Amino acid sequence: MKKMLFIFNPRSGKAQIKNKLVNILDIFTKAGYELTVHVTQRQGDAMEAAFRYGENKDLVVCSGGDGTLNETISGLMKLNEYPDLGYIPAGSTNDFASSLKISKDMLKAAEAAVSGQAYPIDIGGFCEDKYFIYIAAFGAFTEVSYLTPQDKKNVLGHQAYMLEGMKSLASIKSYSMRVECEEIMLEGEFIFGMITNTISVGGFKGLVTQDVALDDGEFEVLLIRSPKTALDLTNIINYMFLKEEPNEYVHKFRTRSLKLISDEPIDWVLDGEFGGARREVSITNLEKKIRIMRKNLK
Ligand SMILES: [Mg+2]
Repeated sequence: MKKMLFIFNPRSGKAQIKNKLVNILDIFTKAGYELTVHVTQRQGDAMEAAFRYGENKDLVVCSGGDGTLNETISGLMKLNEYPDLGYIPAGSTNDFASSLKISKDMLKAAEAAVSGQAYPIDIGGFCEDKYFIYIAAFGAFTEVSYLTPQDKKNVLGHQAYMLEGMKSLASIKSYSMRVECEEIMLEGEFIFGMITNTISVGGFKGLVTQDVALDDGEFEVLLIRSPKTALDLTNIINYMFLKEEPNEYVHKFRTRSLKLISDEPIDWVLDGEFGGARREVSITNLEKKIRIMRKNLK
């Protein structure tokens, strides 16, 4: 019998899995799987469960928000062999699900997990010990995303709390850093940076480009230098949120790996969750590392 590990976060997205759970388990059972089910109990639990019970499974399915997906993949990465992964989005922020074209209808996503097609995607390796699926970021606009309590996230949604972050722009902090990769070397004061492998990132329109691929071994990088005047800051914000013309403060490029070195520890956010404070960060694209199940796209 095929073996599946199903990990779900019962609290994400206003506990929307509650009414769907029986049907989801029925879909898995009908598809011929012997099930191991783990209900996450606290932060970090999805990662532990994926590591502890993921070995020798044919398929691991997780349900929750971006954080649950991140934890599950982080747990799987510690295994010797990686099972295929199914994802049933349930959080208020499911940026990556839309990038992957995974349905927001939980039952359709459950069907795709068992009868779809395995699609290899790149995983971001962060400093040897952490991973991200679609975004690693620091600086302005990021603090709010992991400091906002879950309930507020559920009510407001992603865009709203991004905009809430703009209230604190008067106190915007800049970081002295050096950024190194094969393509480019930058030095100076930066207020924001994001390394992504996704088609959409919350409210940020400036990053969205047509030709992003999730399996090309490359990240899209966006770095923003400290503005000198209020007008510069307005231009930056317009660029980030309204997709106006880029300006001299904006650096955009692609790379397979990069290093960021700063004078002081910087708080990083990985897939919307706190990723630790670090002075030196190395980020590597692990090409086609995990296969995600999704509906057959013809
Ligand atoms: Mg890519």
